Amino acid sequence: MLELAKEQIAMGQVAADKAQALRLLADRLVADGLVAEGYLEGLQAREAQGSTFLGQGIAIPHGTPQTRDLVFSTGVRLLQFPEGVDWGDGQRVYLAIGIAARSDEHLRLLQLLTRALGETDLAEALRRASSAEALLKLLQGAPKELALDAQLVNLGLAADDFDELSWRGARLLQKAGCVEPGFAAALQQAEPLPLGEGLWWLNSDRQVLQPGLAFITPQQPLRYRDQPLNGLFCLASLGAAHQALLERLCEVLIEGRGQSLYQATDSRTVLQVLGGEVLPDWPSVRIVLANAHGLHARPAKVLAQLAKSFDGDIRLRVVDTGEAAVSAKSLSRLLSLGARRGQTLELLAEPQIAGDALPALLDAITQGLGETVEPLDQTLATQPPAVAAPAAAPVQAPQAGSQIQGVAASPGIATGPAHVCVERALDYPLRGISPAHERQRLVEAQAVVDAELQALIARSESTIGDIFITHQEMLADPALGEEVELRLAQGESAEAAWMAVIDAAARQQEALHDALLAERAADLRDVGRRVLGQLCGVQDAREPQQPYVLVMAEVGPSDVARLDPARVAGIVTAYGGATAHSAIVARALGIPAVVGAGASILLLESGTPLLLDGQRGRVSVAPPETEVQRALAERDQREQRLQAAWAERHRPAVTRDGHAMEVFANIGESAGIDKVLEQGAEGIGLLRTELVFMGHSQAPDVATQEAEYRRVLDGLGGRPLVVRTLDVGGDKPLPYWPIEAEENPFLGVRGVRLTLQRPQIMEDQLRALLRAADNRPLRIMFPMVGQMHEWREAKAMVERLRVEIPVADLQVGIMVEVPSAALLAPQLAREVDFFSVGTNDLTQYALAIDRGHPSLSAQADGLHPAVLQLIDMTVRAAHAHGKWVGVCGELAADAQAVAILLGLEVDELSVAARSIAEVKALVRETDFQAARALAQAALQQDSAASVRALVERS
Ligand code: PEP
Ligand code: MG
Repeated sequence: MLELAKEQIAMGQVAADKAQALRLLADRLVADGLVAEGYLEGLQAREAQGSTFLGQGIAIPHGTPQTRDLVFSTGVRLLQFPEGVDWGDGQRVYLAIGIAARSDEHLRLLQLLTRALGETDLAEALRRASSAEALLKLLQGAPKELALDAQLVNLGLAADDFDELSWRGARLLQKAGCVEPGFAAALQQAEPLPLGEGLWWLNSDRQVLQPGLAFITPQQPLRYRDQPLNGLFCLASLGAAHQALLERLCEVLIEGRGQSLYQATDSRTVLQVLGGEVLPDWPSVRIVLANAHGLHARPAKVLAQLAKSFDGDIRLRVVDTGEAAVSAKSLSRLLSLGARRGQTLELLAEPQIAGDALPALLDAITQGLGETVEPLDQTLATQPPAVAAPAAAPVQAPQAGSQIQGVAASPGIATGPAHVCVERALDYPLRGISPAHERQRLVEAQAVVDAELQALIARSESTIGDIFITHQEMLADPALGEEVELRLAQGESAEAAWMAVIDAAARQQEALHDALLAERAADLRDVGRRVLGQLCGVQDAREPQQPYVLVMAEVGPSDVARLDPARVAGIVTAYGGATAHSAIVARALGIPAVVGAGASILLLESGTPLLLDGQRGRVSVAPPETEVQRALAERDQREQRLQAAWAERHRPAVTRDGHAMEVFANIGESAGIDKVLEQGAEGIGLLRTELVFMGHSQAPDVATQEAEYRRVLDGLGGRPLVVRTLDVGGDKPLPYWPIEAEENPFLGVRGVRLTLQRPQIMEDQLRALLRAADNRPLRIMFPMVGQMHEWREAKAMVERLRVEIPVADLQVGIMVEVPSAALLAPQLAREVDFFSVGTNDLTQYALAIDRGHPSLSAQADGLHPAVLQLIDMTVRAAHAHGKWVGVCGELAADAQAVAILLGLEVDELSVAARSIAEVKALVRETDFQAARALAQAALQQDSAASVRALVERS
């Protein structure tokens, strides 16, 4: 990473010519251990390809791909040449910045460097600089402009109070690269300033990287400190960069035009009022950059030179980053974009030159700007796939008769034609025939989509119908319509205009990192694709009339919600694992599913007959009739077994040799306890309370929570209830409790770590639980405990409240989800009343595989011997202290795992209600002594696959 420091600068150097200057630089890089001997050849070769003169008396010599391996570590060394060095073409260099970097880092270095340089003419100042400090100041001190563009404006936000608005403002600034993570907290401590007309101002200069201003308005008018709250400005201040803006804002307010800001429905209006960066209404074209090393100095120079040959303004921006457009004539500005291969560039040109300039620039970029370029993969060139497939050898469609091994996600056997739903990249012209023609096409396409949505609403039940109603509203959204209209008027095609607006709106939603808003972004994209498909004359493959096997890259919970279980016989996904939420939902709906079957299944032709075994995680492609018959016979047998299990569901689960296992249910909401008991549950082994919190638009108060918990305890009629305290963060976002973006949220502030930081929320929840207990058996456990002190702090809170609200039958324990908790089990067991093993998280942490990872999570198998060892340790430690252990992760319902968990002497299994009867039956079929031997053998295996093979053989 580039850090400019005075130690890297050598002042007052003298070189007779460029060759000598390069030699001096190479010697310095070698002497400082950044590169190996021989790097000089790279510097020379690079200069031979094209001068590295950057402008303003600066050159940036660097190596070639061939000398990349000579780089030991990334860095720069700067040599000042007060007398100047002739760099060819009449250019004089006063500062040579030698770069030691490998490909992409190199681009990043350039980006940072040119950001620092800005466009001021520095040559003379660099020549005269008398100390390294002064030179450094010149490089770093270029005044930074105030960032204010569309990505910093968020209008009509569903926020409840001032704090939330300020938090969102800080997030926008962070996303735009203006501030570091601690800025949000700094802003919270700042004194808010009322500007009048319900507009407020918050300002902090802590953790600021670049000055920036965010503006946010709430969806509904709010009040703050007894005054209206119509909009909030959040300033990340650095120097006086915001002065001009402030003056302009004062004028707006003095003229009584504040409402033009807080009543605005699009960011463009706000930016126009404030004088922010508004993308001009000029003709534009887009192209995906194919240069291997991005828009680095050489191609950027070619582009800038070509742009300069046109007599008018030309701008360029990287669509993917959302950053402001820069002048295409400025080399340093082009470099500051840091554009990489695969990113989409948008070129905008003043109308009088656009007709000539845009095609010429487009052509030059297509030709590689002086470099030989490898064409991009077509799918990438048009739009990145929704789910990035892992880079691998080219995948091929599975052959008829082949069998694919995936991950068993939901048991059962299904047959039917494949219905492959894959987002295909669509190609379309960027320029239209005429605005009127394009407008007409768009109106017609939207009308067709509207009718389609209407038909879907008519045939869907209410929750699913609501999704399509939202889609209809998005389709008719006037704000989107206005922006599309602007683009059509500039000559864009209907497809390009529509998709650009949808893409921008979706990105704006996604930028907020808010689960709910991100879902809206997915909805927007969904509507966008429907209309685009219509415009391009491409229809989604029709849903077959007969029961079919749905094949998708990944099935999101909302996709599953839209499924008609009567039509969908089975689900196969290319990515995802057994604990992915799609798998959990498929299990809840009772649809057989195999996940993580690999990218090749997406190449299947729709209609290909498939046979899916959700128990074994296998998919057979166009299988012979005999195999289908065998599988169907097995399905019938399984159904008979399930029927028999169902008949026995209320009987306890006792092994053939008399060992009892408790079988409890996992639930997420307080309603429907009767149904759960009806399915054979002996109690609730995991109440996931975050769903109780998600059911409300803000954190439910003590009374509301008490009513919810009371409902469960009442329904249980004296059976035990194990409640997990709020477990949000990581994979479980809570819409109204925005969590700071973290590099690794799964290793970040989640579960008990988060609630301990918000003791009031934790205390309210505990209070509600204790009050609801009324001396009935209540078990409270804390999620994600990994350290002794976390357990002790949480336990202390319970003890304190318990004095106030006594409960006769209370046990307090922890979930074992973090390997450190299992390893500390001997110490923890002295203090806890029980453990409940959350195998979903325990597996992801033990194997270091993100449970939602698109390709790896298929390997996150809880039967891995490493996970079994952790469970074994937990059980042994607990039993040594007379404590009990449950397992409440998905593993507990895995038919191949039941005997092993039994053999590890787990005391309780807590599973989805619909699995209870089957799990009980499996326990009854088992011999405890045999299970113990099986478990011991499993602990000795070296992979999950060999454990599964062992179970199959047993
Ligand atoms: C687990 O991690 O196994 C568990 C039961 O919790 P969740 O799946 O809700 O994270
Ligand atoms: Mg968990």
